[in-house]
Parts: sequence; C-alpha cells; structure tokens
Amino acid sequence: MSEEESNTESPNGPEKDDWHHFASASYGSADAEPTEVLENETTPEEEWFDGDDYYHSGGSIDWNAPPCPAPLGIAHMIKIGVCDNCLHRIGGRRVDSTGAEGGSILRAEAHSRDSELEKVEIPELCPLCENLFEDVINIVDRIVESTSPYQYSTMQFGIHLPKDMIQSEDSIRTKHGAQGSKTLKPSFVKAIQDEISSRTQGVSFVKESPDIMITIDALTLRVDVDVRPIFIYGRYRKLERGIPQTRWPCRACRGRGGDCENCQGTGLQYIESVQDLIGEPVRNSMEANDTSFHGMGREDIDVRCLGSGRPFVLEVKGPRIRDMDLDKLSEEINSKSSGKVEVNSLRWSLKKEVSRIKETRSEKSYTIRFKVEEELPEDEVVEAISSLSGVTLEQETPKRVSHRRAAKTRKRKVTSISDVTVEGNEVQFSLRCEAGTYVKELVHSDEGRTVPSVREVIGTECEVLWLDVKDIHAD
Ligand SMILES: [Zn+2]
Ligand SMILES: [Zn+2]
Repeated sequence: MSEEESNTESPNGPEKDDWHHFASASYGSADAEPTEVLENETTPEEEWFDGDDYYHSGGSIDWNAPPCPAPLGIAHMIKIGVCDNCLHRIGGRRVDSTGAEGGSILRAEAHSRDSELEKVEIPELCPLCENLFEDVINIVDRIVESTSPYQYSTMQFGIHLPKDMIQSEDSIRTKHGAQGSKTLKPSFVKAIQDEISSRTQGVSFVKESPDIMITIDALTLRVDVDVRPIFIYGRYRKLERGIPQTRWPCRACRGRGGDCENCQGTGLQYIESVQDLIGEPVRNSMEANDTSFHGMGREDIDVRCLGSGRPFVLEVKGPRIRDMDLDKLSEEINSKSSGKVEVNSLRWSLKKEVSRIKETRSEKSYTIRFKVEEELPEDEVVEAISSLSGVTLEQETPKRVSHRRAAKTRKRKVTSISDVTVEGNEVQFSLRCEAGTYVKELVHSDEGRTVPSVREVIGTECEVLWLDVKDIHAD
C-alpha cells in the first residue's frame, strides 16, 4: 500500500466553499434579486414613468421638464421630493461638497432662483432612494462594531436592493437626471465607504479577495460581515509514525466528545495530527477560529514523510490577526512539534492554490523495509528486486481500502529501484514510482492482487515492517 490519492475523503467531511455558503444565506423574498457584487450592476428594463406614485403639492409639476442640470430640471426634482443625497447625485452640477451637503447647496441655489420651491411640501420618502442614505450612519456603526476585533486592510461590499426600487429609481433618473448620473447602488456604497474612511484608517475597498466581505440587504438593513480566511503554503516532514495527517474524529462518539471514554472527551481518535501540530500554533498566533488542512496527497498514519516534505496549504479561518512573521511562526511550530512534525518554505497563499495542491499528481520516492519468510542469498534478492525497475504494475484495489473504494485495476509505473540491502531475514530498498502506487502491496502482493510483486519475484512471503516517503517530486 502507499499513498492514498490526494482527493481521498477527508475525515472532516467535504470542505464548504465559503462564498457559496455565504451567498446562499437567506435573503429570502421571492421577488428579490440575488445579492450581487458591485461590478455586476444590472440594467433594469426600460419602464415609462407615469408619475402616479408620487405625492405632489398641487398641479404645478411639469412632467415634461428638461433633465438636470437645467434649473427647471432641478426644480422638478425638488418638487417631487428627492432628498439632498439624490439631488447631488443626479443634479449634474459641480459644487464644493458631495453627498447630502452638496445636495443642500443645490437646493439653496434653486430656492434663490425660485422662492416658490421653498413652499413645496417634502414627502416622507425620497422617490429615488426611499431615504436609504439616512441609514448610512446606522449601517456603518454596525460594520465598525462587528469588525473591530479583526485586523484588516481590504473590504468588499455586496449590496442587495429590491428590484422594484432599482426599476423606479432608474426610470426617474434616466428621464430627469443629468447625463452620467451615478446609479443608486454605487452611490450608496460610496456613501458607506466614505463614512467608514472617516472613522478608520488604512482600509481600502476592493472588488476581489478582500480581508472582509460585507453584505447589506437594503430592505431589511441586515448587515453580514464575513472575515475571509488566510491561506499559508508550506511543506511538512512527518518524523514520527502514528500521526494522521488531518484531525480524525473519535469512532465511538463521532467527534462529539462529552463523556466519551474512548477519547476522554477530546472527540479525537488520535490526539495529535499533522493538521493540529502545524495549525494550532498558527491558530493561536492569529487568534483564529479554526483551520482546515489541504495536503498534496497524504501518507498513511504509520508512514513517515521525509526529504523536503509534502506540500500543503493551511486555511486559517476567522483570523483576528493577519500580520505575521512567517519565519517566526515556522520556528515556533518546529520547536513545539520537535521530533514529530517539521515545516519549511512557509509563504502566503491564496484559495486557488488549494485546488492546485489537491490536483497535483507527482512522482514519489519511498524507502521500504520488510521481513522474508525464507532467507535467500543476497545477490539473488538484489537481482530479483532490481528486475522490477521500470515495470508497470497492475494493482487491483487493495483489500484494506476496498470498503470505501470501487474495485478496479490501476496501472502504475515503477520508475526506478535502488539501494537494495539484505540483513538476515530483513530486506530494504528504495524506489521511485508514479503517484497513486500502492507501495506496500508492491512488496507483499496483497494475495496476488498486485502483479508483478516482490513476493512473486523472490518466491517467499513478505511482511512489511515500515515505509517512509523519501521525497515528493513536486513544486
Ligand atoms: Zn434619495
Ligand atoms: Zn469519543
């Protein structure tokens, strides 16, 4: 046996895709459009505005007024009751201030041109934004509060606006607003971002790979803050047998722990794993919630992994601290797990590297030691085993994994064999072979399921004593 394939099932179950998980979170109403990020602005259908929905004081509204920035256009917007924010946004005139302040300047100018406008009764809701901008402070209060435990430098926004609101805003704006007026959604996001920038330092707003993703439902004013995980690439060496690669839930309680006797309440079948020996110091340093471990394949629990080590990506979930000295982190891991696990080549990574790591199939070198039933002359053993160099094995799914894998025959090439040594009834050799080769089966033949095999060429039973991954020829 050997390596299992790298896409083997994880004891943690399938990994959740954070974004997918997040995006399907309940923005429930049937007529709501899905949450989207800013660059995917939709273009609502053209719809003729009939004016019936709008309150106005008397019969003085001229629906054929020219669009802004003409003074009559601005006057018309004031008459239908747009708020200062929207007046600035669609008014198309340059003033010294932006947002509501800019709008109030435009309004004052219009009043000085036509004092009648001061008498216009202001409706309760702005027909363009339904007073959305009044919620900016409240929304930013909540964003600032829920992000305060976290270190971050980039933020991305996803805003959900009700479809009918987008459509009616669009029909008024395209008819009466100045050419090139900003649409509601980016203006709203800009207002939120400006408020955030005025309160916190050093945050930039991005359209991909943020440290923090914020989604806002403008209808319910629900604000969700998603702290994105950090990914760290490295290679690990496993120096001691008996350590599984990832956390392995207790078989008796299925990881629940509690008063389980089998695991003394830890929920773990094995107290130590490569995942936690590496991940726990990182989780503590970054004050994170948890980790996921993505290895380029995995070795069996009783197999060491030596040489330059096995590539992996550690996913650090919900980190409160993002700024880290990876050299120090690496020293800390190595001193804490001394003699068990060692890491090298740590560097920052991205989510997309997880799939690269999981999909890479690389050749590996192994050293294997086994016991023979019948002692044989050394030169015969060396010659017989060396004859397997370059052969293509046919390997039926081994008995030990057949309960979770479909039976099939694999063809795997043994690239080379070297360093065959014989000491009494113990034999040892090194080999390099294709990814996915069952190496222990190559030696003992798994009752004839692997052909050819060492068992076959030396003609006596073989019992594997140990196996080491000598090197992984990747990266
Ligand atoms: Zn408005
Ligand atoms: Zn248990």
